[in-house]
Amino acid sequence: QVPVLTIDGPSGSGKGTISRLVAVRLGWHYLDSGALYRAVGLAAAWSEVDLSDAEAVAACARRTEIEFRTGEGGAEPHVIVNGKDATHQLRMETAGAAASAIAAHPPVRDALLDLQRSFRRSPGLVADGRDMGTVIFPDAAYKVFLTASARERAERRHKQLKDKGVSVTLDGLLREILARDARDAERAVAPLRPAEDAVHIDTTGLSIETVVARVLALVNP
Ligand code: C5P
Repeated sequence: QVPVLTIDGPSGSGKGTISRLVAVRLGWHYLDSGALYRAVGLAAAWSEVDLSDAEAVAACARRTEIEFRTGEGGAEPHVIVNGKDATHQLRMETAGAAASAIAAHPPVRDALLDLQRSFRRSPGLVADGRDMGTVIFPDAAYKVFLTASARERAERRHKQLKDKGVSVTLDGLLREILARDARDAERAVAPLRPAEDAVHIDTTGLSIETVVARVLALVNP
C-alpha cells in the first residue's frame, strides 16, 4: 500500500503550508482537498447552479475539470478550473464560504470521493483537508490534526490575503472564519473532527519550521 499522511484541521490552522512543505521534503504527492470543494463551488457559481441544490451541485462536481499545476519547492500550485486559472479567486473567502456550503451535501462529497483517492500514488501522499483521516483515507499510516487559536488563524489568513494584494479587515475575517468553522463542525455529514488515531498539534505561536519538523518526525522517527 502507498503510504498516506493525512493533515486535517480548521481553516488557517496552517494545514496548506505545512502539508506542501512536508510533501516536498518527503518527495510525496500532495492533495489539497479544500481546493476541490472551492473549485466545485466556483464552477457551480459560474454556471448559476443553485448552491443549495445538492443533486445539481453533485452533477456539477462530476463534470468540473480540475487541474493542479504544481509550483516549485512547496509554492502554492495553480488551480485550473474548466480551463481557467482560478488560483486567485479560489483563495478568496467568498470561495471558502461557497465551498463550505456545497461541502455540506452528501452527494457532492460522494462525487469527489474517487477523485480524492486517485491522488494516492507512489511513493506517497500528503492529504490536506477536514476528513482525510476519518473518511477518505481511514487506513492512513500517519494522521495529524492541526489547530491554532481563532485569532491567530484569522491573522494568518489576513497576512496571506494581504500578500496577494487583497484588502480585508481582520475583524471581518475573524467573524467569517468563526462562522465557517461553526458550520463545518456542526454539519451532519463529515463534520470536522479529529480521527481517533490522529496526533494533535496546536500550532499557535509555533514557527512553520517547528511544525514541519514535528510532522516529519512522525513519518521518519
Ligand atoms: O481548506 P479550505 O479552507 O480550502 O476548505 C474550504 C471548505 O471546504 C471548508 O470550509 C470545508 O467546508 C470544505 N472542505 C471539506 N472537506 C475537505 C476539505 C474542505 O468539507 N476535505
